[in-house]
Amino acid sequence: MQLSNRSKKMVVKPMTLKERMYLPAIAAGLGITIKHFFRKKPTIRYPEVKREFSPVFRGLHVLKRDDLGRERCTACGLCAVACPAEAITMISAERKKGEEGLYREEKYAEVYEINMLRCIFCGLCEHACPKAAIYLQPDVMAPAFYSREEVIYGKDRLVENADKRANAGLDRVNGVRKLS
Ligand code: SF4
Ligand code: SF4
Repeated sequence: MQLSNRSKKMVVKPMTLKERMYLPAIAAGLGITIKHFFRKKPTIRYPEVKREFSPVFRGLHVLKRDDLGRERCTACGLCAVACPAEAITMISAERKKGEEGLYREEKYAEVYEINMLRCIFCGLCEHACPKAAIYLQPDVMAPAFYSREEVIYGKDRLVENADKRANAGLDRVNGVRKLS
């Protein structure tokens, strides 16, 4: 294998006397610390009082139903392909006769799981979904987990999250928002 000789030469700039002494930098750092220490900040008594969520916050996922209560997900797998953390696992199944009221499309996710330990809450699954079936809640954080089993969010919990939002009138119409 031939290596290119065109790599840039690194120039190491010699440190000035001030930089070599370190003390001015330490004093400047301490000054910032002291300034913040004495600055008056409003006290937030968590958990009774909570800060407002940022408009770009992405929290726990939901798997939405449509207006007729049917699951929107068609198990196309695009969310799993888009996921940089490989956190999504699914198994698709064919809708049977008589299940039209349960699943909107001819295929549905028999198994749909998100590993919340792997998830980085980037929202790419939401953006990849052509059916607006999955989205990340803008105001619900992932809870603390006490066992490895708890971190796997199956379809039951993801759909349940959607139902809770819909019942509270908080459902997102399109299920998709702009990436910041
Ligand atoms: S939010 Fe990002 S990391 Fe988490 S499941 Fe979706 S695509 Fe994967
Ligand atoms: S959630 Fe959306 S992208 Fe993921 S499998 Fe279902 S329909 Fe496809």
